[in-house]
Amino acid sequence: MARALVLEETRRLSLREIDLPQVPGPGEVRIAIDTVGICGSDVHYYTHGKIGPFVVEAPMVLGHEASGVVVECGPGVTGLSVGDRVCMEPGIPDGSSRASKLGVYNVDPAVRFWATPPIHGCLTPHVVHPAAFTYRLPDNVSFAEGAMVEPLAIGLQAATRARIKPGDVALVTGAGPIGILTALAALAGGCARVYISDLVDAKLGVAAQYGNIIPINVTREDAAASIRAETGGWGADVVFECAGAAASVETALEAVAPAGCVVWVGMPVDPVPVDLVLAQSKEIRMETVFRYANMYDRAIALMGSGKIDLKPLISDSFGFEDSITAFDRAVEARPTDVKIQITMGRT
Ligand SMILES: [Zn+2]
Repeated sequence: MARALVLEETRRLSLREIDLPQVPGPGEVRIAIDTVGICGSDVHYYTHGKIGPFVVEAPMVLGHEASGVVVECGPGVTGLSVGDRVCMEPGIPDGSSRASKLGVYNVDPAVRFWATPPIHGCLTPHVVHPAAFTYRLPDNVSFAEGAMVEPLAIGLQAATRARIKPGDVALVTGAGPIGILTALAALAGGCARVYISDLVDAKLGVAAQYGNIIPINVTREDAAASIRAETGGWGADVVFECAGAAASVETALEAVAPAGCVVWVGMPVDPVPVDLVLAQSKEIRMETVFRYANMYDRAIALMGSGKIDLKPLISDSFGFEDSITAFDRAVEARPTDVKIQITMGRT
């Protein structure tokens, strides 16, 4: 048994004992959790009890963005030792699946992903996890930053799918956490500058504290028109749609340059209309993103080299015993909050 933050049912959390594995098997390590970031998906399960086909039907431990310290290695583990500071990739595929063999393990139908029903998450003092999905952190990357590797991996997946070329100009629609991390990934991937659009000035302000991220408030400006004005009428080489809203889907197709690329990152709650003829008339390429595969090493390398600094995005931190308060703060969705974290060691 272990203490954990348990989502009992929609809108009801408790901190209580629950049965969770504590002994590492072959190829697994046991990790003392240090920091867990609260993700939009954790909040959505809390407030709505489901995301698409994934429905919370039994009590589930929340949390999937985590860092910690290896405290025990199971049989056959090489490359990790007790005391290593690490972060963990929350999706564990079936290694013998067709998806895994193709290198696209993120779309393995059998993937077991922390805090996606019915799989328990990591808001508990210790987790047992495959060593193959546990990554050592450089000394200059803090636990708080280590817990940001997971959402950054989504941005890197998007940037990789876009096949950015040096000097590309990008537009990111939506300045939420994933929008900002995607903008940073796009810059790291070679974009000269990235425009980011949103309805809320405070969110744009957080994004624009980074160099070469240029805010566009769509309540005052037409984002597609602004992009054309800034690119000699051509449009953005790459558009990352991160808002998941019908209006921004339309903006993405209007703002993208001929022969450019739109990457669909945001997930609309309901189906949205897509102007296919507009896409065809510019012969654009479209890409989709579902989580990430093989991005953790890259995210850690970019943070370790200082090319991506996520410290300004960590808005507040709560102790484990205040986890429910932390979730209620995340539900508030203050416009200047990007990432709320829970720190296990702190009381
Ligand atoms: Zn997440």
